[in-house]
Amino acid sequence: MKPHAPGAFALRLVIGQRTHDRLRYAQELLSHRNPSGDLAEAIDQLLDIAIPALEKRKFAATTKPRRGPRRASADPRHIPAHVRNAVWERDGGQCTFVGESGHRCAERRIVEFDHAVPVARGGQATVENVRLRCRVHNQLEAERTFGAGFMDAKREEARRAAEAKQHARAEAARAASEQAAEQARALEEQAKDMICGLRNLGFRADQARRAAESTAMMTSATLEERIRAALKILCPKRSNEATARSSRAVAREARSSSAAC
Ligand SMILES: [Zn+2]
Repeated sequence: MKPHAPGAFALRLVIGQRTHDRLRYAQELLSHRNPSGDLAEAIDQLLDIAIPALEKRKFAATTKPRRGPRRASADPRHIPAHVRNAVWERDGGQCTFVGESGHRCAERRIVEFDHAVPVARGGQATVENVRLRCRVHNQLEAERTFGAGFMDAKREEARRAAEAKQHARAEAARAASEQAAEQARALEEQAKDMICGLRNLGFRADQARRAAESTAMMTSATLEERIRAALKILCPKRSNEATARSSRAVAREARSSSAAC
């Protein structure tokens, strides 16, 4: 955004197709308030809608404060919405750290709610005890209070936990792929038994192979079930009883591994 004239800025940007389409759609939806579809006005109108929603999500700012008794949270670190709201207003959405020179930190992005007296030392989630701090100053304060060594240990602990989680995920993925490989091996074994059995029933090698291929999708079927399906394809006129008998015989032979091709 470049200054264009006093109180005006030039905005130039490249947007993707999806953003373009959504922007056009939003202009249509705003057309009752913005009939000409003026883009600058549309952006302003979208911000009118977006900012309160973002404030509500981030800082629990509500237009209607809750009446009645407030429920206390079991988590001592929980900062109730009315406290967040009041602190945000009081601190003006800006880090409250003041350096030795008396200069206040100007950071307004990624500001966090910080307990002046830490929760670990009995600090409460009250408007008086909570303040806004940017991430850097929040960290700095914690290091001052608990010592850099302690905070390093905390960070190390978090890093190890993340590492353990990643390790567990990788382990689960490895087990799953091993299981899939095992299943593939079993299916291949089954296909071999099947081809062998069909050949013993007098079918040609290419017929047996094709039958094995066409029943390859039956991944959870037993050998007998696959043979039965294959026989239905190979000789559709064969009686159900004869088909069942043959498939049982092939399966039995494969089990006793007496089948030879
Ligand atoms: Zn700061």
